[in-house]
Amino acid sequence: MPTFKELGLRAEIVQALDELGFENPTPIQEKAIPQVLDSKKDLIALAQTGTGKTAAFSLPVLQQLDETSRNIQSIVICPTRELCLQIATDMQKFAKFMDLKTVAVYGGTSIEGQIRDIKRGAQVIIGTPGRTVDLINRRVLKLDNVNFVVLDEADEMLTMGFKDDLDTILAQTPKEKQTLLFSATLPSGIKKITRDYMNDPVEVSVAGGNEGTKNVEHHYYLVDARNKYECLKRLADVNPQIYGIVFCRTRRETQEIADKLMQDGYNADSIHGDLSQQQRDGIMARFRNRKIQLLVATDVAARGIDVDDITHVINYNLPDEEEVYIHRSGRTGRAGKKGISIAIIHSRERGKLKSVERKLKRTFEQRPVPTGQEICETQLYTIVERLSKLDINEKQIEPFLPAIMEQLGHLTKEDLIKHLVSFEFNKFLDYYKNARDLNNLSSKNDRRDRDDRPRDRDRGSRDRDRGRDRDRGRDSSFGDDRPRRSSSDRFLDKGKFTRFHINLGTKDNMNPSNLMGLINESLSKRDVEIGKIELMNTFAFFELDSDYADKLSGSLKGSEYAGKKVDLTIAKSTGPNDRRDRDGGGGERKDKFRDKFSRDRGGSGAKRHSSGGDAKRAGKRPRRPF
Ligand code: AMP
Repeated sequence: MPTFKELGLRAEIVQALDELGFENPTPIQEKAIPQVLDSKKDLIALAQTGTGKTAAFSLPVLQQLDETSRNIQSIVICPTRELCLQIATDMQKFAKFMDLKTVAVYGGTSIEGQIRDIKRGAQVIIGTPGRTVDLINRRVLKLDNVNFVVLDEADEMLTMGFKDDLDTILAQTPKEKQTLLFSATLPSGIKKITRDYMNDPVEVSVAGGNEGTKNVEHHYYLVDARNKYECLKRLADVNPQIYGIVFCRTRRETQEIADKLMQDGYNADSIHGDLSQQQRDGIMARFRNRKIQLLVATDVAARGIDVDDITHVINYNLPDEEEVYIHRSGRTGRAGKKGISIAIIHSRERGKLKSVERKLKRTFEQRPVPTGQEICETQLYTIVERLSKLDINEKQIEPFLPAIMEQLGHLTKEDLIKHLVSFEFNKFLDYYKNARDLNNLSSKNDRRDRDDRPRDRDRGSRDRDRGRDRDRGRDSSFGDDRPRRSSSDRFLDKGKFTRFHINLGTKDNMNPSNLMGLINESLSKRDVEIGKIELMNTFAFFELDSDYADKLSGSLKGSEYAGKKVDLTIAKSTGPNDRRDRDGGGGERKDKFRDKFSRDRGGSGAKRHSSGGDAKRAGKRPRRPF
């Protein structure tokens, strides 16, 4: 392992690091420091908090600043006020033996003192986007001499809706400069920034290690032991894009579960010690190619599995040793991606869960088993998305068209769409129409837990993941003049939100920033609270302060975006444990679902959905359509 000196850092900086007790560079420092010192190339660094990223960008930048000039030579932009202060403090410590001045600019505090500090002269500015733009607009902050721009926690900045501010700031900087972008993940918005503002960037990342576990959410589902398999199936059904490993304890159980899943129409298979090497290789190849979505495995057999994009690890049983759980869950959340590790447990396994929590130093979040209604809704939209993305082979289908037209030509466009979607959807609807509540409600504790748990499932996990952000607070410098989303919605009463479905997705050039802009524009207002945004290819869900729901429906529905007529409907609320779900306040589209469910229960649906009925009579779930 090289020393800081060997990475090329000057004696004054090494001395400061010595005083701080930094003995050796961390992996991200080892990669980023020489890169920034030796090359003028832009840099993308995939690194999370806790990896030593602050020093990774600060040290090489500080070393290259001109101490004799008080011009602003570098600017670090970060999402929150607390992070801004932390970076400024760290940089001052690193530059203890240098003649460098840093100024932190952030909202929620008087701008006058910051203006004075900037006017006194500083080589480094560390700022939150809103306040930085404010100072640029006041012509206090001049960035024409900037040689280094650092975008720290770039993904967070985009999530928080700072894209426009970043554009404004970057437009003020000279063409000739080095841009360093640090981010825990690389969502498409970041890729756009790198395309727009970076020149042939070098990419570095620190894979593996313990930091990956920070990307993993830990959930558990409490069910009766006999309902574990049904719970597993529902988890697969509510996550149509699942790409996961299901861990079982014994070879026999592994084989049994995989067999059942295959019989029930899932893309599943098993890997365990009873298989020959050749068989294992074949299964692994199919898993890597995503021909298999769910790989059921024993711990021993799973050792060789080295796949990066696993979305879910499912513990069908909790292992006896906590370490084993940690290894299992480490198979997801890799390479900066988010992952979910799930334990399906029965009440006697709660003690084991607690000891895993202690070892892991993380809390599991109890999730309610997805309801049939929730699964149907997810599947419906998946079918719609798949239909919209379907490649049509004109040549192949042409000879059949006359006959098809004869059969279907009389249908209106609307009816045809209904037929098409129902073709697959009815199977799910029929299968789940009488779906039981699988949650184990047997013990008092369980009930209390469920009542205590956050009303919004996603918010609960986000809170834990971003507890750090909550501690830091947010840049409130312009909290009053712009919409905010996920960052602040945890502080709000969930009942305040209405969830919408909109027929615009990433394919329509939609991103959180654009969506917020569209909402603002439609409402002619900038301070309306926007909650969670979920963007898909061709559609999106978002939450909006319910007080503005009618106004938005009135103004946005039917308008045009990117040449497309906007369709906006009220969607079901997030989380089946949300009260609105239970008391029927979930909105217009959900009511349609409820009507449909009750019709089916009444018997009239049985005839209509006969294909699913056959499967059901055979005691099986309908074969998965995809
Ligand atoms: P960061 O990811 O920048 O927030 O850094 C996480 C923590 O690691 C901070 O408390 C840093 O002071 C500390 N740190 C950063 N680099 C090193 C290092 N090379 N040796 C020891 N501690 C470090």
